[in-house]
Amino acid sequence: QKLVYDFTEGNKDLKDLLGGKGANLAEMTNLGLPVPPGFTITTDACRVYLETGAEPLELRDEVSAHLDALERQMGRTLGQPDDPLLVSVRSGAKFSMPGMMDTVLNIGLSDASVAGLAAQAGGDARFAWDSYRRLLQMFGKTVMGVDGELFDEALESAKRAKGTDSDLGLDAADMQALVDDFKAIVAKQTGREFPQDPREQMDLAVRAVFDSWNTDRARLYRRQERIPHDLGTAVNICSMVFGNLGPDSGTGVAFTRDPASGQQGVYGDYLQNAQGEDVVAGIRNTVGLAELEAIDKTSYDRLLSIMATLERHYKDLCDIEFTIERGQLWMLQTRVGKRTAAAAFRVATQLVDEGLIDEAEALRRVSGDQLAQLMFPRFDEKVADSGTVPRIGWGIAASPGAAVGKAVFDSYTAVKWSRSGERVILIRRETNPDDLAGMVAAEGILTSRGGKTSHAAVVARGMGKTCVCGAEELEVDTKRRRLTAPGGLVIEEGDLISIDGSSGKIYLGEVPVVPSPVVEYFEGRMHAGAEEAGELVRAVHRVMAYADRVRRLRVRANADNAEDAARARRFGAQGIGLCRTEHMFLGDRRELVERLILADTDTEREAALAELLPLQRTDFIELFEAMDGLPVTVRLLDPPLHEFLPDITELSVRVALAESREDANENDLRLLQAVHKLHEQNPMLGLRGVRLGLVIPGLFAMQVRAIAEAAAHRRTAKGDPRPEIMIPLVGTVQELEIVRDEADRVIAEVEKATGTGLTLAIGTMIELPRAALTAAQIAEAAEFFSFGTNDLTQTVWGFSRDDVEASFFTAYLEKGIFGVSPFETIDKDGVGSLVRAAAEAGRATRPGLKLGVCGEHGGDPESVHFFHEVGLDYVSCSPFRIPVARLEAGRAIA
Ligand code: ADP
Ligand code: MG
Ligand code: MG
Repeated sequence: QKLVYDFTEGNKDLKDLLGGKGANLAEMTNLGLPVPPGFTITTDACRVYLETGAEPLELRDEVSAHLDALERQMGRTLGQPDDPLLVSVRSGAKFSMPGMMDTVLNIGLSDASVAGLAAQAGGDARFAWDSYRRLLQMFGKTVMGVDGELFDEALESAKRAKGTDSDLGLDAADMQALVDDFKAIVAKQTGREFPQDPREQMDLAVRAVFDSWNTDRARLYRRQERIPHDLGTAVNICSMVFGNLGPDSGTGVAFTRDPASGQQGVYGDYLQNAQGEDVVAGIRNTVGLAELEAIDKTSYDRLLSIMATLERHYKDLCDIEFTIERGQLWMLQTRVGKRTAAAAFRVATQLVDEGLIDEAEALRRVSGDQLAQLMFPRFDEKVADSGTVPRIGWGIAASPGAAVGKAVFDSYTAVKWSRSGERVILIRRETNPDDLAGMVAAEGILTSRGGKTSHAAVVARGMGKTCVCGAEELEVDTKRRRLTAPGGLVIEEGDLISIDGSSGKIYLGEVPVVPSPVVEYFEGRMHAGAEEAGELVRAVHRVMAYADRVRRLRVRANADNAEDAARARRFGAQGIGLCRTEHMFLGDRRELVERLILADTDTEREAALAELLPLQRTDFIELFEAMDGLPVTVRLLDPPLHEFLPDITELSVRVALAESREDANENDLRLLQAVHKLHEQNPMLGLRGVRLGLVIPGLFAMQVRAIAEAAAHRRTAKGDPRPEIMIPLVGTVQELEIVRDEADRVIAEVEKATGTGLTLAIGTMIELPRAALTAAQIAEAAEFFSFGTNDLTQTVWGFSRDDVEASFFTAYLEKGIFGVSPFETIDKDGVGSLVRAAAEAGRATRPGLKLGVCGEHGGDPESVHFFHEVGLDYVSCSPFRIPVARLEAGRAIA
C-alpha cells in the first residue's frame, strides 16, 4: 500500500486518501498552476498511527524517497546550511475543519542554516531571523506543547521595548534576540532543546499533525458537524515560498465570487510582507484584494486568470490561499468554497447561465435547509451593521430566526411576563428541563455555555425558536438578574435585546425585523424590491420550477382551517394531507364537548352532537372551498378526551374550595367525576383515536356526516370537493371495519338525502407498530395509508416525545447514540423499515393503494428523500415547510 503521493500523482477525487487540501493541491499541480512542489502522506498512514500509536514501518522510507526527489527537483536539501530547502507540514482532512488542526511553516531552519537563508535572500537577515522565530513559535506550540501565549508575550514586550506596535518595526537584531528568547522558553517549558536536525523537525511535525486529529476541540467540532471520528487526516509537505521577503511579497486569501451574496467580482484580503496565517490572525490590517492591482499588477492579473481557470475547472465557487514571493505568484490551497444560503442559490443559477452546469446539477448545489434559512424573517441588515444598535456579543448560531424581547433570567419570569403580553428573551448560563416553560414563552433563547448540541440548542430547534448559545464572552448572573458584556456593559432584567439565530449576533436594543423576500415571493407579494433581493428571488424561482418539473413525490400540507389551507396552496401544496379536527372542538365549542362527555343519556349526547354538526360542516365547507379540486384528508377526532376538560388539579381545588363554602356547583361536581373517570396514567396510549369512535356512540358518525354534507354542499355550488376520511390510531383491521361500516352507512344516507353522488375515500393512519406489521390485512379495509411517523416513532422507540426531547436527548446526542433526534429525521433502520415493509404489504393487497406521510418528517430534507425512495405518493407537512419539501422531492431525483 502506497503511503505517500507526490503532488503530481494525486487528483481532486482522492479526498478520502489525500484529504481535501492534498487532493486539491495535486489537482492544481496537474492543471499546470504554480504550486510549490511537495508530497502528501495519506490518511491510511494516519489511521495506522492513531490505531497503533506508531507510524507504519514503511512510512519512513517512503517519506525519504519523496524527500530525496523533492530535494533533487529543488536543487538543495532540507535545511542545507548554505541554501536551506524549507517546507511546511500541513494538516488536511477529507472535510475541512477550519482552525481545528495544525500546520507548521519553515521546517528545516536551524542555527546552522539561518545565515544561509539570509544570504540566499540577497543578504536579508531580518527575513531569515523572522522566519526562524516563526518556526520556533509554531513548532514550540503545536509540536512541543508550549503555551502559545508565552511566545506572544515575548513578542509584545520586544515591540514595546522598541516603541513599535507592528512586527514590521522590529529589525534583524530584534528578531535574532527573539529567537534566543523563544528557544529559552521552549527549553524552560519542556526541559528539551528545540531540535536542530531538519529531518527530526519534519518527522515530529508530521506526528503532531496526526495527533491534532484527536484534540478535544477537533473531536467536539466533528461531533457537531457529524464528521466520523475514524477518518484521520492527511499531511502535506510543501516546499516553502515566502511572502515575508519585503514589500514586493505578501500573502492573501480570495474567493472567486462573493460567498455572502454570490455576486461576481474580486473578493479577498491581501497583506504585504507577511507569512501564512498573518492574514487570518489579524496581526496587521489587510487590504482588499482589489488594491493588489495597484501594488503588483502582473501578479494581480495572473491571480484573476487563475481564479477563472479554477472556476471553469471546478464548475463552482472556489476559495484560495496564495502567496507572492518577490513578484512571483504561488497557489497554496483551493477548495470549493463554503457559502451562505443566498449565495448558494445565486451561484447555482449563475453557473447554469454561464453554461458550466445544467439545471439538475444546480438543484444538487442547493438544499432544503438553505431554503428554510432564507425563509426566516431577518434583522434589517442596514440597521444591524450600522452600529446604531450596539452589538454586545457573538455566540453560536444554534437555531435560526430573529428575535427581539426583554431580557429575563428565569423561566418563571419569562412565563409571567409573556402572559402579560411582553416579548421576552430567556437568558441562562445553560438551560435544563426546568426551563422548558420559559423557553416556550420566550421569543428566543440566549445562553453563555454549550454548543450546537446543548440542551438549549436541541430544544429550541425542536420548537422552531430562535436560539443563540455558547456566547462565552457574556457573563450571565442569574441570581442578580443581569448580564455583563465585554467592556463591563451591564444588561439588567427588562432591557430590550435582539438575538440573531442565523448569525449568532447579539444586540442591545431593538433591531427592526424585515420579512424574508423569499417568503414574500412564495406569498405572491414580491414586488420589485432591492436589486439584490430581486436576484435572489429569481434564483429561487428558477430552482423551484425545475424541482417541480422533475419530482415524483407530491407535497401536501397539514392545515386545519381555510386560512392555512389558502397559504399552503400559495406555497405550492397539492392538497391537504392532514386536517386535524380536534382544533374544531376548542374555544366556545369546548362547552358542547363537555356536554357530550358528561351526557348520561342518549338524548343528551345526541343533542350535543346535533349542535356540533352544523359547526363542523361549516368548517369543512370553508376548507373544501379553499382546496377546491385538491384532495383534503380529514382525520377524525384523535386526542384523549381529557384534553377538552379542565385540568384535574385546578378543578379539584375549585370544587374543594366551593365545598368548604358549601356552594358547590352541580356541573363542576359532575365535571370532576368525569375528569377522574377519564384520567389516564398514559393518555398517549389510552382512550384516543379510533378507540374514541368505538366507545362514544355517534361521535365519528357526526364527523363523517359533517364531511359528507359539506362535500354535497360544495357540489351543489359547482365546486370540486375531494375529501378523504382518515381513521387514526388503528391497530387492527377489525377496528377499521367497524368504523368503516358506520361511515359507509352515513355517507349513503347523505347521498340519498341530498341527491348527490359522493366518492369519499376512507383510509387509515399507520402509526402503531401492529398496524405496520399487519398492513396487508388493514389494506383490505383502507383505500389509503398515511404514515403518522410522529406516533410511530414514539411507539417504535418507546419514547414519549413531549418528555424525552427535553430530558435525555441531549445526553444521547452527545454520546453519539443518534446524530439527530428521530423525531426530526426519520430513523431509517427502525421506524423507516416498518414504513417500507408496510408500504409493500399494503400495495400487495391493494395495488392502487395511495400512500402518504403526515407529521414533522414530511418537511425534513433527509426524510423526504427516504419517502421518495420507498415509493410513497406524497408527503404532508406544515405550510411553511412546503417549499422545502418540494425542493427536496426534486433533489431526490436530481
Ligand atoms: P489551514 O488549514 O489552517 O489553512 P494551512 O496548511 O493552509 O492551514 O497553512 C496555514 C497558512 O500557511 C496558510 O496561510 C497557508 O497559505 C500558509 N502556508 C502553508 N504552506 C505554505 C508554504 N509552503 N509556503 C508558504 N505559505 C504556506
Ligand atoms: Mg489553509
Ligand atoms: Mg398520531
